[in-house]
Amino acid sequence: MSKERTFSIIKPDGVSRNLIGKIIARFESEGLFVVGAKMKQLSRHEAEGFYAVHSTRPFYAELVNSMCSGPVLLMVLEGENAILKNREIMGATNPADALDNTLRKLYALSIGENTVHGSDAPDTAQNEIAWFFAASELANNQ
Ligand code: ATP
Ligand code: MG
Repeated sequence: MSKERTFSIIKPDGVSRNLIGKIIARFESEGLFVVGAKMKQLSRHEAEGFYAVHSTRPFYAELVNSMCSGPVLLMVLEGENAILKNREIMGATNPADALDNTLRKLYALSIGENTVHGSDAPDTAQNEIAWFFAASELANNQ
């Protein structure tokens, strides 16, 4: 076990349905600490850059549109094995495949509007955190 940081987004469909509190409460109940948070309306440029790895996929335009459709809550979560733990709490990309009681099973509307994002590996976690947060915006007292 090792303490890690991961990057989390509550996507526009989660923010607009007033799910911020329920989602953060779940992270906290599973031992993840919020060490950075801010609400932001992503520009098209930011959403395109963030999901650039998917730029050749057929769903890319829909994904970018949906990420820009309203404000998101950007967060850095810290805890033991935070990257994998967050992915387990979120559940599978497609809510139809997500296990019971995962955030996507509970809240996702569709594979496109699946309520939360989480980094998938240490290198992406580090890059995604640095993309949105300055070191001075992160707590370091957990
Ligand atoms: P995220 O990166 O948002 O945490 P993920 O890692 O579970 O999700 P990815 O394969 O990285 O899944 O896909 C990024 C996002 O693109 C998904 O969360 C989803 O919103 C969207 N997406 C993925 N596959 C599809 C699809 N077949 N149709 C529509 N949207 C999709
Ligand atoms: Mg992903």
